[in-house]
Amino acid sequence: MSQEYPNTQLFINGEWRESLSKETLAIINPATEEVIGKVSHARKEDLDIALDAANKAFSDWKNVSAYERSKILRKAGDIVRSRADKIAKLMTLEQGKPLVEAKMETLGAADSIDWYAEEGRRAYGRIIPARAQGVFQYVFKEPVGVVAAFTPWNFPLNQVVKKVAAAFAAGCTAIVKGPEETPASVAELIKAFDEAGMPKGSINLVYGIPAEISSYLIAHPVIRKVTFTGSTAVGKQLAALAGTHMKRATMELGGHSPAIVCEDADVNAAVKILSANKFRNAGQVCISPTRFLVHDSVYDQFVDGFVKQAEALSVGNGLDEGVKMGPLAHDRRLTAIEGFVSDAVEKGANILTGGKRKGNKGYFFEPTVMTNVSNDSRIMNEEPFGPLAPINSFSSIDDVIDEANRLNYGLAAYAYTNSAKTAQDLGQAIESGQVSINHHGLGLVDTPFGGVKDSGYGSEGGPEGLDAYMTTKLVSQTGL
Ligand code: NAD
Repeated sequence: MSQEYPNTQLFINGEWRESLSKETLAIINPATEEVIGKVSHARKEDLDIALDAANKAFSDWKNVSAYERSKILRKAGDIVRSRADKIAKLMTLEQGKPLVEAKMETLGAADSIDWYAEEGRRAYGRIIPARAQGVFQYVFKEPVGVVAAFTPWNFPLNQVVKKVAAAFAAGCTAIVKGPEETPASVAELIKAFDEAGMPKGSINLVYGIPAEISSYLIAHPVIRKVTFTGSTAVGKQLAALAGTHMKRATMELGGHSPAIVCEDADVNAAVKILSANKFRNAGQVCISPTRFLVHDSVYDQFVDGFVKQAEALSVGNGLDEGVKMGPLAHDRRLTAIEGFVSDAVEKGANILTGGKRKGNKGYFFEPTVMTNVSNDSRIMNEEPFGPLAPINSFSSIDDVIDEANRLNYGLAAYAYTNSAKTAQDLGQAIESGQVSINHHGLGLVDTPFGGVKDSGYGSEGGPEGLDAYMTTKLVSQTGL
């Protein structure tokens, strides 16, 4: 076991402890394939204790003033910020991303906590003028109750913090099922909330068999809100279960973002920004630019530039200085990415650079650029979630809008153009929860983040992110 990587326990009712069954799962460093630690594995009997604790804690936490909640959250943000180097290193060891990216994510988590600490103080209601004399109608927000949050491994901190900071600011308590592959950095986040003064039982962290935990928690009467980030396939199952039990739900699911480069775009800027964002976190980002659609007239220039950027990327262990892209997070992704490439090649794609695993130790995959990619290929229809850039051309705006809207995903879209009219047309016509034009401006805590169509429903970030953890109540009264 690594000295620098701790074993991770469950956090239930204010205590770090092993599961009652003492079962554990191994944690693998994706850059070395070595087992670096283990994580405790919860079963139903552990969940029952967490449910009871979160339920009891809710009856107090919901009555703590927004002002006091804010102070505790600000303190948690400061703790995370002060431990950013330590947390980032754990994240790189367990997830693989370069240390710089891991640190940015950690500092971003602290900022998210700060933001929700403030937003929670502004969960205003309203007074509605009544139709009859003497009637007083007011509307206010109440915390929804105990939250079950399911988060993935690609952004271990960011995916948890967007859920729990909003939930706590709203006055909810939570049980988080964290990512089994990347548990230690998440545990540090939970520790920060605890040390900042969140009451005993208000925040619980469990790991285990995802389907077993989600089916138990979602159906349980104590849980009032479900929030999930992950694949569309799993999201649909959890949304169906939440529907069966009439639980509120936020579903942050997969994407297949079109990245459109028009004839009047600043092509060099588009290459630079899109390639950096394609290979960030080895492409394991739900809003990663995925289908590159480039106007015929600038196609060759864009492809040449993109290939150069891909070839210049330094791929390696995220702890090493200068590394810009780490390994894929686990072996399942390696198999999946190899499958996407071989399928595209069988259907006629040309691989201009990359296309295969890098070395035979660690889950590294070469930054890959492909052209002439058939729309029948799996990569043009399913979320690839890896460092693959398929680039095709288009000749008219109408055609590219049709292509952008062809799939049932609608999470993010990107466009580059110097025409105000084209920018406006694309911003309106693309079916997506978010569209970023001439820069990469998505995913900030101040702004709503969420999808349409199969990419899910609900928003994280912005006032909408807080609203997701509140219900609306009307009181209508007279003096009599
Ligand atoms: P997966 O679909 O099995 O798991 C995705 C996430 O969902 C994991 O965190 C997993 O623990 C969780 N999960 C799976 N089944 C669950 C269940 N029944 N109940 C609760 N949680 C459950 O596969 P994977 O190999 O981890 O990832 C594969 C795909 O998932 C990727 O290709 C990508 O499309 C998607 N994904 C999306 C995001 C995102 O940010 N939207 C993050 C991670 C993975």
